[in-house]
Amino acid sequence: MKFCRFLPLSAGEGHTPAPAYGLLEDRGIREISGLPWGECTETSTNWALNEVRLLAPCEPGKILCIGRNYAAHAAELGNPMPKEPMLFMKPSSSMIGPEEAIILPEYSQRVEHEAELGVVIGRKCAHLSDEEDALAYVLGYTCMNDVTARDLQRADGQFTRAKGFDTFCPVGPCIATQLDPRDILVECRVNGQLRQSGSTALMAYPVAFLVRWISRMMTLLPGDLIATGTPAGVGPLSADDTVEVSVAGVGVLRNAVQARKAGFAAA
Ligand code: ZN
Repeated sequence: MKFCRFLPLSAGEGHTPAPAYGLLEDRGIREISGLPWGECTETSTNWALNEVRLLAPCEPGKILCIGRNYAAHAAELGNPMPKEPMLFMKPSSSMIGPEEAIILPEYSQRVEHEAELGVVIGRKCAHLSDEEDALAYVLGYTCMNDVTARDLQRADGQFTRAKGFDTFCPVGPCIATQLDPRDILVECRVNGQLRQSGSTALMAYPVAFLVRWISRMMTLLPGDLIATGTPAGVGPLSADDTVEVSVAGVGVLRNAVQARKAGFAAA
């Protein structure tokens, strides 16, 4: 199954469109009532893809990220592999959905893409003892782009600013529930050119390890999101680029890149 979250472009006269969850199918979306990570049932409401805008497919309380989980990526930035997973967080305010623009902040001269497998938690868990049980707490998998201001990451020595700008966490287009996370191809294309390509089999710390390991520090809640690190090939994004993250079995997450307009103030 592929769960998505969407906003109808119109809800009919007198109604304000409200975000909803659904099942993404070949012919369109079947709306569900309830939440993908709770009790949910299919409704009789169907939407064509041109009647909706897809949103990021979950609403995480926290976005956890793993740094340097692929040896070739650590090496390309001149970093040693960590002895334990390197954990950091992105704010939920940095999330955007498919087709939304990544805005280049004026503070950075070097913004880069990081294509990653995203893990969406389905059931509350804490202090898991066995790695073998960990995947039972995962709802499914999605595409993420851990957009990073590389110059600020180096200058700051920690990641909060470099990874936390608004629009720096594209997620989507859906949550695929029936994938084996041990060998999934993760790729990134910029303007159609392949920049990153690596299997999750190359991870130093696989998904089951990460879910158990994180659960022993903080309770994982339904909808929480884990970005599992990026394969080699990270590189710069420029205004007017189009960046695509693809995860085999999930789909393609596409976002345009825009310069921040002078004088623009967010509401
Ligand atoms: Zn990353």
